[in-house]
Amino acid sequence: MADRNHLEWPFFEQRHRTLEAELDQWATANLSAAHGHDVDEACRVLVRQLGDAGWLQYAVAGTIDTRAVCLIRETLARHSGLADFAFGMQGLGTGAINLFGSSAQKQNYLTRAGKGPAIAAFALSEPHAGSDVAALRCSARLDGDHYILNGEKTWISNGGIADFYVLFARTGEAPGSRGITAFIVEPDAPGFQVAERIEVIAPHPLARLVFQDCRIPVSQRIGVPGQGFKIAMSTLDVFRTSVAAAALGFARRAMEEALRRATTRKMFGQTLADFQLTQAKLADMATGIDAAALLTYRAAWMRDQGRRVTVEAAMAKMTATETAQRVIDRALQMFGGRGVKRGEIVESLYREIRALRIYEGATEVQKLIVARELLKGRPG
Ligand SMILES: Cc1cc2nc3c(=O)[nH]c(=O)nc-3n(C[C@H](O)[C@H](O)[C@H](O)COP(=O)(O)OP(=O)(O)OC[C@H]3O[C@@H](n4cnc5c(N)ncnc54)[C@H](O)[C@@H]3O)c2cc1C
Repeated sequence: MADRNHLEWPFFEQRHRTLEAELDQWATANLSAAHGHDVDEACRVLVRQLGDAGWLQYAVAGTIDTRAVCLIRETLARHSGLADFAFGMQGLGTGAINLFGSSAQKQNYLTRAGKGPAIAAFALSEPHAGSDVAALRCSARLDGDHYILNGEKTWISNGGIADFYVLFARTGEAPGSRGITAFIVEPDAPGFQVAERIEVIAPHPLARLVFQDCRIPVSQRIGVPGQGFKIAMSTLDVFRTSVAAAALGFARRAMEEALRRATTRKMFGQTLADFQLTQAKLADMATGIDAAALLTYRAAWMRDQGRRVTVEAAMAKMTATETAQRVIDRALQMFGGRGVKRGEIVESLYREIRALRIYEGATEVQKLIVARELLKGRPG
């Protein structure tokens, strides 16, 4: 049983508490079985299940309730990393359409992504442009009533199974970040190719995409030309806090596992939990989780008040992901040899958490965001 004391914090309203309790019940009933080895199929099934049950609506809603999205990701992550991934990607993959799309684009893509039949993806990173995203090279050239895309995207979650990709390409209105435009690309567009499926330590659908004279109608452009970087950053601003929430879910699950293990494992005539070394570990883990949760829900609450949260979201993301990694590592240590055995929950959490410290801005990038704000306007 998860510790739910944080739901009493003043960041939440009654609807959030009800939502969390209902989702936890749903997840217990629907997500306890193993997903099997076909990760593409598992993701398709999860998107359908989450859509049928109405949870995806929270990821694609016209006005995002950030606290609800965070509670959903935290709860799903506690039950299943892949379910959290499926939910999170529907949000990230539709965020740009939600914030900047035309009414026709919203009607088409948000409706289908919110109900679950259409899988969404967010295609920003390239082999030469990850952290330095403004260096992206993929180009889009206007040709009559079409754009012609040429270039590559890599590390694209849901790559290979997505029904549409929100893609960022250079249109050249200005150098650097001001010459980028956002588009929606469907995989049947001529010249679109899934060039490589990428396997990672915690299996998720992931791919490298290649565009060779790929033609897409002008009506698939999101917003105005040259606005793409702003669109990408605004989308990340919404969902970065939810990555912190997912990390929190992984950490809470590790804490539950650690407590169970510490209180049942017999050694030296006592249990593991009787030793003060273990108690110190548990205290550090619990304190780290609360600190990460406070930062996460502060950022979510502030965003729901209509405030700018670039710094708060960065603090939340780096603290929650780094803390979760430490909490999971300590939990795994308490399991001894069993901790590294395939199929153990702490073993899969250990693999699941790692990429969260890298994607949607690595920890170092989050630190730069915070520092930039601190130093803004100072002489020197
Ligand atoms: C599982 C997974 C899923 C992903 N899904 C998506 C997706 O759906 N869509 C998408 O567009 N991208 C996605 N990505 C890509 C992700 O956003 C990039 O991997 C990330 O931005 C880092 O870029 P990079 O891999 O090119 O690393 P690099 O940019 O080469 O950075 C390498 C490392 O350098 C360090 N670093 C970065 N900047 C600085 C700095 N200024 N000073 C000091 N050190 C620094 C960081 O530790 C960083 O990890 C995904 C990645 C992974 C692993």
